[in-house]
Amino acid sequence: MNNDLHIATNITHNIPDKNDKIELIGLTKLEISEQFIKFGIDKKTAKMRAAQIYNWIYINGIFEFAKMDNISKKFRIFLAKNFVINKPKLIKEQISNDGSRKFLFRFYNSDFLSPPVDIETVYIPEQKRGTLCISSQVGCTLNCSFCHTGTQKLVRNLTASEILMQILMSKIILGDFKGRKRSQIGLVPGENYRAISNIVVMGMGEPLYNFANIKQALLIASDGDGLAISKRRITLSTSGVVPFIRKVGEEIGVMLAISLHAVRDDLRNKLVPINKKWPIKELLNACRNYPGLNNAKRITFEYVMLKGINDSDKDAKQLVHLLKNIPSKINLIPFNGWPNSPYECSDWERIKAFGDIINMAGYASPIRTPRGRDIAAACGQLKSDSERKEK
Ligand code: SAH
Ligand code: SF4
Repeated sequence: MNNDLHIATNITHNIPDKNDKIELIGLTKLEISEQFIKFGIDKKTAKMRAAQIYNWIYINGIFEFAKMDNISKKFRIFLAKNFVINKPKLIKEQISNDGSRKFLFRFYNSDFLSPPVDIETVYIPEQKRGTLCISSQVGCTLNCSFCHTGTQKLVRNLTASEILMQILMSKIILGDFKGRKRSQIGLVPGENYRAISNIVVMGMGEPLYNFANIKQALLIASDGDGLAISKRRITLSTSGVVPFIRKVGEEIGVMLAISLHAVRDDLRNKLVPINKKWPIKELLNACRNYPGLNNAKRITFEYVMLKGINDSDKDAKQLVHLLKNIPSKINLIPFNGWPNSPYECSDWERIKAFGDIINMAGYASPIRTPRGRDIAAACGQLKSDSERKEK
């Protein structure tokens, strides 16, 4: 299969729904006002109304036009007639012993002709910060052999609206909007902190095979007039779609994580098959040239610890050697199992020994603590029941 076919270059956030209404989530403030102008509204009013609506949605978490009470009734009727904010349904929520939470959202296709899709989003709270792990696709076209999502057929790319909705809905559930009561379930950072301070694009799917939509969503998520999540607190993880790596730095400007997982091409070809297309050398070259890279803004290299496969001292030394001239952090991820997975997680002693070699080379605390394993919310465990409908 030619994977290039799946690289989306068009934004698909504003497909009119079955009533030909335009989805508002996923449009920038400027794009909202441009939509109003298309309906014949004068420029000044359009700009003002767009700012008000943007404020209601992204600062206050209000999605119902009827509640936007600083907007004239006439304009609210116009909004209701021509625009829509499609909310997904929260189908299921699971809470881990460690306080992480997994949300299963059901999104209805805007045309209502194709079946709805289910998407998992994971919330990982810590004392002073909270990270939301969002998905970029339903399933994944890539077949990394250690990843559960990789065993699910790609259903489709998520729209910019669906990507943003994962953040907005999670903020509502957690009470993270202005004036809302903070959720009392599990661990949530105190009122003085944001419940969602960080975003990682590490859920289902390969974000760089859905570049336009992830770009649009992350630019809106980091917009200072709205959700205002700093780009330094947003990390996009890719398995290595080399032609798009530079664009992440230039056009989105968020932090980058690379799923490296092996230091030799023969092994990486098996673990992360996209390596056959863009081998380690090309991948690391793209990293070296990542725009804005410096010691304060490093690339994170993720390395899943697979027993007897990639976890020898030799591998650790080679890893340090490969990353020598790249401002980087290393994240060792203990393998999270799933039903019938072909690998085992390296023993703790082995992970520690591997981590020590990396520590000695000057990288601080490289081992990632698995979170939410008991609810299958940890890295690589997400897999929804949505399957592509056979033609
Ligand atoms: N598709 C992107 C982002 C999603 S996966 C990517 O591959 O980077 C987020 C991270 O979890 C990646 O580093 C991925 O390799 C890792 N991962 C996948 N399956 C895993 C598993 N079973 N255990 C531990 N980490 C896993
Ligand atoms: Fe897709 Fe990432 Fe899983 Fe690989 S690790 S199959 S790229 S989601």
